[in-house]
Amino acid sequence: MIPFGYRRAEDPAGAVATVAAAPGAVFLAGGTNLIDHLKLDIARPDLLVDVSGLPLDRVEEHFGGVRVGATVRNSDLAADPLIRDRYPVVSRALLAGASGQLRNMATTGGNLLQRTRCPYFQDVTTACNKREPGTGCSAIEGHHRYHAVLGASPHCVAVHPSDLAVALVAVDATVRVLGPAGPRELPVADLHRLPGDEPHRDTVLAHGELITAVDLPPPLSARSAYRKVRDRTSFAFALVSVAVVADVRDGRIRDSRVVFGGLAHKPWRARAAEEVLRGAAPSDELFGRAADAELAAAEPLAGNRFKVPMARGALVATLRELTEGGTP
Ligand code: SF4
Repeated sequence: MIPFGYRRAEDPAGAVATVAAAPGAVFLAGGTNLIDHLKLDIARPDLLVDVSGLPLDRVEEHFGGVRVGATVRNSDLAADPLIRDRYPVVSRALLAGASGQLRNMATTGGNLLQRTRCPYFQDVTTACNKREPGTGCSAIEGHHRYHAVLGASPHCVAVHPSDLAVALVAVDATVRVLGPAGPRELPVADLHRLPGDEPHRDTVLAHGELITAVDLPPPLSARSAYRKVRDRTSFAFALVSVAVVADVRDGRIRDSRVVFGGLAHKPWRARAAEEVLRGAAPSDELFGRAADAELAAAEPLAGNRFKVPMARGALVATLRELTEGGTP
């Protein structure tokens, strides 16, 4: 392991100033991803600035919605009554992610900033544009069963691994950020990037910017669900996942938000599917048509073609559950 410094942050502004002033410094929260990267030699920071003790660990009512501090642990957030009652999709996504031990350590902010689990990214002996720009992408001709079918580029076909991020886009959450130039906020939907020709940049955050909270607006509907398809139920990243929030009244889907995980470099808001669903009466035929409208843009690789019908099936089943029996 490469030697590095460690400093415990006293307050958010001080943490930001310290990291912003040092190109080799990074924030450390739960450490469930970063510590792995140190061991694997993927990350070589000079300094870890530990933000896990900052007073950003509250879940509280906020203008009719809920504000979640960045250091709230995933297990605490999943169990919080406000989240369970108003945003079941968020609670379910959290419980579908990782193991109990990891959820006890992982934080809200860190979860959103976790990096891809592409096996080549995690193997420093292979070419990977995300880890080492300009070296190539080993996955395109290699093992890419878990990789992207939407929004990929010739430079990278990785997918974003967070379940929580998918659910937060579905509830239209906003992320609050503190940087050297002060605070700002942006939709979680705009936090992550598609790879383009800069796959080493996962998000739009600049060096030194710290996520301090996530704001969930008043829910569109309490009728929401998260479905994750994976190789083993105990602990695996999504092959496909889907988060749906649906406002169903008088036999019609008045409005919905549909977001896929496991298909792209960022949570994939399925606006074409939402458009098909808007104002329509629920039926399997409608659900299939909505899925097809979104997945028409899919460009799978040879080894992950199965993801397209899998995503279709996941969306149809989730919509059926939500419209037939209320919140599953
Ligand atoms: Fe690297 Fe992306 Fe290619 Fe994986 S898919 S090897 S992360 S460039």
